[in-house]
Amino acid sequence: MTEVIIIGAGPAGLSAAMSLARGGVRTLVLDREPEPGGIPRHCAHSPYGFREFHRPMFGPAYARRLAAEALAAGAEIRTLTTVTALHPGGRIEITSPEGSETLTAPAVLLATGVRETSRAARLIGGEKQAGVLNTGALQGIVHLNHQRPFRRPVILGTELVAFSALLTCREAGIKPVAMLEPGPRITARAPAGWLPWALGVPLRLKTRITQILGRSRVERILVDTPDGPDEIETDGVIITGGFRPDAPLVRASHMELDPASGGPVVDPWGRLTDPAYFAAGNLLRGVETAGWCWAEGQHVAGAIHAALKGQLPPPGGARLRIASDAVKLALPQVIVAGAQGRLQLRLARPVRGRLRLAQDGATLLERRIDSLPERRITLPLPQPRGTGDILVTVEE
Ligand SMILES: Cc1cc2nc3c(=O)[nH]c(=O)nc-3n(C[C@H](O)[C@H](O)[C@H](O)COP(=O)(O)OP(=O)(O)OC[C@H]3O[C@@H](n4cnc5c(N)ncnc54)[C@H](O)[C@@H]3O)c2cc1C
Repeated sequence: MTEVIIIGAGPAGLSAAMSLARGGVRTLVLDREPEPGGIPRHCAHSPYGFREFHRPMFGPAYARRLAAEALAAGAEIRTLTTVTALHPGGRIEITSPEGSETLTAPAVLLATGVRETSRAARLIGGEKQAGVLNTGALQGIVHLNHQRPFRRPVILGTELVAFSALLTCREAGIKPVAMLEPGPRITARAPAGWLPWALGVPLRLKTRITQILGRSRVERILVDTPDGPDEIETDGVIITGGFRPDAPLVRASHMELDPASGGPVVDPWGRLTDPAYFAAGNLLRGVETAGWCWAEGQHVAGAIHAALKGQLPPPGGARLRIASDAVKLALPQVIVAGAQGRLQLRLARPVRGRLRLAQDGATLLERRIDSLPERRITLPLPQPRGTGDILVTVEE
């Protein structure tokens, strides 16, 4: 009998599968794509694998290695299998070329990753021409279909993923005419910021796309800049970043979703509000590095192993409540005294100030922060004194 079902064969799911199977747990991994590996399958660039394999790897090689390790450890991987519903107690519905089925396991790990925000969600006006893609679609077209969707696009955004789009363009012989950032600074950390300069792509800060023009294809865009409105001739727009957890399964289920992170509410063991379900990887909060997701897979595999042996405490704990518009998300949302791990935070805007976590008026943790939005901030897990709410505030 399958003891653990893992939904999603990306770095988080495959890392957990390898770890569980090595520990003798009968593990089944399901993925809707034809091949396992998740996002790195489409990212034919480095750097992947530093944390896991201590050397830089290209995405597809890294994805193959993760899958090979999970299989070698004894996990089973079923591709072209989409999970369509989650029910109480680890019962799930799937659909595959063989038809529909219901599977059950004592523990189910959700590792379904992220989705990129669409053009509509970014409120960019204009016709619906060909040539407007997000990074995932661009990489699918370039690496899986071996096509070149445009020759001189603009890249919108400067999160880490925008630099992945830049590298994909270079490999495909596409020369972006500009990289645009609505904010005053690049979002990704150095040294990514050197890349546009090194590749000769002009970087325009405080610049926002207001309209994409052209009949059937993109011909030019209108932008708002610090010097007023401007026009850029281009044949494509790559909309990068703005990732949200790929959580429709959780949203449609009996389990609680966190509106702040967009992912499920979890405790320090990655356990959802139904303790048969766990989560790891980008599903928890939006895009992170593959190595971080891989480590989360390992951490949650350890927790699942303990749960199968009845060694986890019963669900429950103090709830984290964000009481500042400067904080975008914080997790785990359920905090338990004595639990190990780190608190993850992301900001909604640039902040310089003091972050405070308090319960019943008593400070549990206080830190100085100076960070841009979308960057990873980690803190020790606070140690609550009871189950009262823990308020997250920022004094600027
Ligand atoms: C464009 C881009 C470039 C990147 N470049 C780098 C880089 O250079 N280095 C780096 O370290 N990180 C990079 N990252 C980040 C890294 O790739 C991701 O953080 C990592 O892949 C996340 O792992 P994951 O397991 O959480 O999810 P994913 O890799 O997204 O895997 C999720 C899997 O779940 C499957 N799935 C989803 N829903 C279902 C369902 N209902 N049923 C069945 N299967 C389902 C999907 O098919 C997918 O295979 C990049 C990310 C992007 C988007």
